[in-house]
Amino acid sequence: MYKPFDLSGKTALVTGGNRGIGLGMADALAQAGADIVIWGTNAERNAEAVKSLKAHGTRVSAARIDVSKEAEVVDGMRDAVTQMGRIDSVFANAGIGSAVPSFTEITAEAFRKVHAVNEDGVFYTLREAAKHMTERAKKGDPGGSLVGVASLAGIEGAGRNQHYGASKGAVISMMRGIAVELARYGVRANTIAPGWIATDMTQRAQDNPAFAEKVIPRIPMRRWGKPEDFGGIAVYLASDASAYHTGDLFIVDGGYTVF
Ligand code: NDP
Repeated sequence: MYKPFDLSGKTALVTGGNRGIGLGMADALAQAGADIVIWGTNAERNAEAVKSLKAHGTRVSAARIDVSKEAEVVDGMRDAVTQMGRIDSVFANAGIGSAVPSFTEITAEAFRKVHAVNEDGVFYTLREAAKHMTERAKKGDPGGSLVGVASLAGIEGAGRNQHYGASKGAVISMMRGIAVELARYGVRANTIAPGWIATDMTQRAQDNPAFAEKVIPRIPMRRWGKPEDFGGIAVYLASDASAYHTGDLFIVDGGYTVF
């Protein structure tokens, strides 16, 4: 039997892991045998997610961390390492959207708010994870997988959403730089760019009949993506199966970008 996808003995940390795409990834990671740490700002949602993830039989813990706050992330990563012993993969997935009527109406405040979570949050999370992984590598135990969750908005033109698109473009280039620098420690860095996924973030679009008529038919798979659609890529990137795969951008969009 081919074993590299088995995550037994590994710990994965997923920011924004209490719902949506993050929970879809955390659920698959737990099913593959990983111990899980999730971060989110909402204590109730965290508790609910922990309950469902624990059904898979691995160790699961949650912390109330706002990834846009550097001190919370620093403390959170230290606590996660202490509690679990080690962190093998980190999915910097927490993010917020912020659609506006037009580019000219993006306020500095809205711009900063989106970047604080989607860019600063990814930076703090992965920097702290990288410290843990590189220190471990220097003691003779190389390895680790860092994953940034970006968006098609970071690649294609995101009209009425330039601040969001810019924050996601930043994630894509940050991940490439991390991949180059940390490969010598065996640490891999990759990006996932989701297409249109049915989560709380896209609720308004899901409820909009014009969207169902004009956008969904342009997806070759002819449907919204689901959080579970991110389980496979999460397990692959957390596992030894991807040991030589770094610096890549995984587009998971049902074929939307190539149509
Ligand atoms: P959801 O809105 O369903 O979930 C967002 C998650 O992020 C929640 O778990 C939320 O937890 C957490 N979160 C938000 N702000 C913070 C914060 N400041 N600190 C810590 N956690 C936070 O979103 P999706 O699952 O749809 O999105 C997940 C990622 O995928 C995001 O980065 C998003 O930009 C990206 N993406 C989504 C697409 C889609 O179509 N859905 C398309 C392209 C990219 P809590 O509420 O407890 O804070």
